[in-house]
Amino acid sequence: MNILFMGPPGAGKGTQAERIVAEFGIPHISTGDAFRLAMREGTPLGQKAKEYVDQGLLVPDDVTNGIVRERLQQDDCSQGFLLDGFPRTLSQAEALDQMLSAMGRKLDHVINLKVDRSLLLARLTGRRICKSCGATYHVLFNPPKQEGACDKCDGELYQRSDDTEEKVGTRLDEYISKTAPLLSYYADKALLREVDGEKEIDTVTADVSNLLRGRGE
Ligand SMILES: [Zn+2]
Repeated sequence: MNILFMGPPGAGKGTQAERIVAEFGIPHISTGDAFRLAMREGTPLGQKAKEYVDQGLLVPDDVTNGIVRERLQQDDCSQGFLLDGFPRTLSQAEALDQMLSAMGRKLDHVINLKVDRSLLLARLTGRRICKSCGATYHVLFNPPKQEGACDKCDGELYQRSDDTEEKVGTRLDEYISKTAPLLSYYADKALLREVDGEKEIDTVTADVSNLLRGRGE
């Protein structure tokens, strides 16, 4: 089962991906991990990527695609994989199709976790941190007993500047506009499966799992 997992920040993609790989016994391939592995092992592509990263430059597509290809060719992917964080662009999506096709494989499902922008905003802007002890809270998921004050030390809680509605909103809009062409690309290939990511965590996992099993059997 070769799966691509997509979803905006705050949709719970990481949690769901971990549960699905555990259930299906396939590796979770995140591009970040694949990069770190290639750089740590010092493969030729890893060394190339490191040169760009060290200079603070964007790693070009041929290097990124190559690292993903090498990762997908490893033994643990023989029964399938869950790909997360790649592709990010149409040209990467086409490169992925080509590399899989060269391996005699293809994507079986593209799962997209859908969560309304306003809910994503609420989830992503809710973090609060204690000025005194650094304890973290979330106004929705882990609220302090008294608003604005730390349960442990009574310190004042603040919001990181990255977590403000303006910053988060910009990040979300960038994500949405960048991934829209990818979603259409996979919809055109009849691979796209939209899953309601606003439900309870366990329900979302069950929905994804049923969807994957429904087609595989
Ligand atoms: Zn505190």
